[in-house]
Formats: sequence, C-alpha cells, structure tokens
Amino acid sequence: MKDKNIFIVYAHPEPRSLNGSLKNFSVEVLEKLGHHVVVSDLYAMQWKAEVDADDFLLDGRNKPFKVVSSSKEAYATGKLTDDVKAELKKLLWADAVIFQFPLWWFSMPAILKGWIDRVFAYGFAYGVGEHSDKKWGDRYGEGTLKGRRALLSVTAGGWSEHYSERGINGPIDDILFPITHGTLFYPGLDVVKSFVTYKTDKIDGDRFVDITAQLRVKLENLFLEEPIPFRIQNAGDYNIPVLTLKNEINIQGRGFHIHQR
Ligand code: FAD
Repeated sequence: MKDKNIFIVYAHPEPRSLNGSLKNFSVEVLEKLGHHVVVSDLYAMQWKAEVDADDFLLDGRNKPFKVVSSSKEAYATGKLTDDVKAELKKLLWADAVIFQFPLWWFSMPAILKGWIDRVFAYGFAYGVGEHSDKKWGDRYGEGTLKGRRALLSVTAGGWSEHYSERGINGPIDDILFPITHGTLFYPGLDVVKSFVTYKTDKIDGDRFVDITAQLRVKLENLFLEEPIPFRIQNAGDYNIPVLTLKNEINIQGRGFHIHQR
C-alpha cells in the first residue's frame, strides 16, 4: 500500500523530545513506504489555541458572541480564518490523520485541544446532516471525514500496568475514548487502536529501538488494520433521537465498551 496522503498533527514544545523523535520517525517511515506526508507542528506554528470572536470574520454580527452559531455561519460563508482553513484543507487531503502527543493530565496538550476546537467547525465536524425525530445528524461513523483513518500515537509517563483493566489510572482505551470516539469517530473517521508508549522517563537507546520497531509495524498496517469497531449511530443499534443503545442489544455492563460491536 503506497501513495496515500498522511497528515500528522504534532503537539510538543521541544523538537528533541521523545514526541519529536517519534514524529520524525513516522515521517521517515511513511515516506519510505511511498506515502505523502504533511505535518502540522502546532508549537512551531504558534497555533492559536483559544476560540474567540476573532476566529469568525463576521463583521460584528452575532452579538452576544456565540461560538456554535458563529462557527456555523463562518464555515458556510467562507469566513473562518486562514489558519483554520489551511488545516481543513489538510484534513480533506488526507487519507489518514495521525496525532502525536504526550498524555498531559489524562488528555491532550491544550494546544492540540485548541486545534480541535477551532478546526472542527460546525457544518464540517458537527451539525452535519439531517437532525429530526428520524435522524440525528451524520455523526459517529458518518460525516465529512468518512473514508479516512485516524491514529493516536500517545506517550505516557505511567506504566502500562497503571493503565490496564484493573490499573489505578483506568484503562487507556477508556481514557482516550473521548478523543477516539467523541472527537474522531464523531465526524466519521475510522479510528485504529491507539499506539501508546508508556514509562517515558525510562527510555534508553535500546528501548527506543524497540518502540520504533513497534511503531514501524503500526504504520505499515495503518490501512490494513481493522479499525476499533465502534457502533455507527445510524446503523440500527440506537434509538433515535434519544440515542440510547437498544434494549435488544445484548451487552453487559455500563462502560464505554457497550459502544463497540
Ligand atoms: P521526553 O521527556 O522528551 O523524553 C522521554 C525520554 O525519551 C527521555 O529519557 C529521552 O532521553 C528519551 N528520548 C527522547 N528521544 C529519544 C531518542 N531519539 N532516542 C532515545 N531516547 C529518546 N503521564 C501520564 O501517564 N499521565 C498523565 O496524566 C500525565 N500528565 C502530565 C501532565 C503534564 C503537564 C506533564 C508535563 C506530564 C504529564 N505526564 C503524564 C507525563 C508525560 O506523559 C510524559 O512526560 C511524556 O509522555 C513524555 O514525552 P516527551 O516527548 O515529553 O518525552
């Protein structure tokens, strides 16, 4: 598999960091595989993370300022700022999007969260499709980014055991669920299992070789691996419009796993 377009969104303030090294490694591997790679290095770009009225070039209308309706109007009329438009273009160009970041307080760095907040506009990532008693939008498996893949490559200080089923931090797939399911599957991306590097304060040359060997395999299989089998909202498993899982779907428990087939 070659000739795919791959967009890496990278969030770390230090180019010589582990995250910087993993990003560089991914670019090298993907290009050697014959893919086309574009990187958004958010700190180097001095990405504006906070959403405010300056994001929507709407001539002072829409007062008091409302983010959702401003986003809707600005996206529909081409009045988003150029930095956001450039990222939207990269997303539409991409066959796969890779997010490379350190786990900070059980989530992504603020600059990356701000990239999502500003780039995932109304009409693009949410508010897409019919919203009625019969259908509640094109989302969770449908939407603008359908047909594209996503991968999180995350580094964590904690040990893999800390993030295991009985680990004190909670299972890593649950911690990342708001990103994999709530943010990426939502606008239609097929999300593959996250690549997580644990215990990052104890990395020497040998360990780095092991980590990159595993990352290489992950990247080689980016378009071959089965995505996480999240349930598609409009495929019959949910009551519309309340969006509860139907009673006849026989699955135990109440955790995030119930939203996987
Ligand atoms: P670095 O500190 O740059 O490097 C880590 C190690 O990798 C170093 O030993 C370095 O020498 C080595 N390395 C880097 N590049 C190479 C290379 N090319 N070859 C060989 N070795 C290399 N952790 C959690 O588990 N959960 C949390 O909720 C959490 N919250 C945090 C919140 C904050 C605000 C911060 C600052 C940290 C938090 N951490 C948490 C820890 C964080 O996840 C780690 O610090 C981070 O993942 C390390 O990634 P890095 O790129 O900054 O690594």
